[in-house]
Amino acid sequence: MEKKSTITDKLSRPIKDLRISVTDRCNFRCTYCMPEQIYGHKYQFINKSSLLNFEEIITITEILVEMGVQKVRLTGGEPLLRDKIEDLVFDLSKISGIKELTLTTNGYLLPQKAQKLRDSGLDRITVSLDSLNNEIFKKVNGRNIDVSKVLKGIEAAEKAGFMPIKINCVVEKGINENSIIDMAEYFKAKGHILRFIEFMDVGTLNKWNLNKVVSAKEIVQIINSKMPIRPIAPTYFGEVASRYQYKDGSGEIGIIASVTQPFCGNCTRLRLSPEGSLYTCLFSNTGTDMKKILRSSNGQDLRSLIKKTWQTRTDKYSIDRSSNINKSTKKVEMYHIGG
Ligand code: SAM
Ligand code: SF4
Ligand code: SF4
Repeated sequence: MEKKSTITDKLSRPIKDLRISVTDRCNFRCTYCMPEQIYGHKYQFINKSSLLNFEEIITITEILVEMGVQKVRLTGGEPLLRDKIEDLVFDLSKISGIKELTLTTNGYLLPQKAQKLRDSGLDRITVSLDSLNNEIFKKVNGRNIDVSKVLKGIEAAEKAGFMPIKINCVVEKGINENSIIDMAEYFKAKGHILRFIEFMDVGTLNKWNLNKVVSAKEIVQIINSKMPIRPIAPTYFGEVASRYQYKDGSGEIGIIASVTQPFCGNCTRLRLSPEGSLYTCLFSNTGTDMKKILRSSNGQDLRSLIKKTWQTRTDKYSIDRSSNINKSTKKVEMYHIGG
């Protein structure tokens, strides 16, 4: 097989992960991502005809895989709302060179979709869930959705053969830090990998401030006081979660500390938005439009633009966060480019 030509950015970081946001729509209104007051029924989401079609997504992915991408994650918005998402999974699973094809979902539609996704070639799945306490969860998801709906989704994913499942839990001070232990106990018993995420200042609409962040250090202390854990080595270069193993040997958790322990130095991720722009950072204010060139030009131009986008990358927002905090810059929203 031909050797991959890996490219690096201005800070010598290789390109390894691609996150594809397939829609900006969502059936939840999580307070930290798409607050209901802003994303009410009149909100104009991207017109369906402006979305990249599957063929276009595949074209971009194939080029990126040639340039070094090994992991591809489908996200959104809520990726399971994209029509025939399993067909895209199937097409992506045929690209040789992708070592892991994954998807992040709020879980609501998994009872209908989990088996189809598995049969289409999806390797792994991550489900987001912020609390097992129904009152807390209903408030956080903004749509009064019962926690049992997500648990049914997780069960469907288990039955379809996605084991272990990663569970993402965003921790926000005063909202759900009291759910940390319950979540850890529940998912430890299930054999899934729970990952706590520090509440981030993505976008400009979630009223973020540093006082609302429960730090990785605090999360570790809370868990360790009840269920002793010890740090373990990352599984690969660029892994965003710090890993901890339960001392009784019964499983692990992850902590994504992008606020208090930024990991820009080994950030190997590129993000493709639903309408076809490439974003080199979660906190970017603009992306590089691929759709225009995809629809009008030849493959070589597209390849050069993608290459240039990565090779000119200098992003390290989280490292510079303290000096960025008071700047009122425009930033892309999380539901637009995915987590
Ligand atoms: N809708 C899917 C879901 O919720 O899993 C996929 C998209 S969602 C934007 C991807 C991940 O980003 C979720 O795990 C979500 O909890 C996380 N997220 C969204 N806003 C966040 C924020 N402000 N800080 C930290 N994580 C956030
Ligand atoms: Fe939707 Fe996911 Fe954002 Fe929640 S975090 S509003 S489920 S896109
Ligand atoms: Fe990567 Fe940007 Fe996050 Fe830093 S802030 S880890 S460069 S996405």
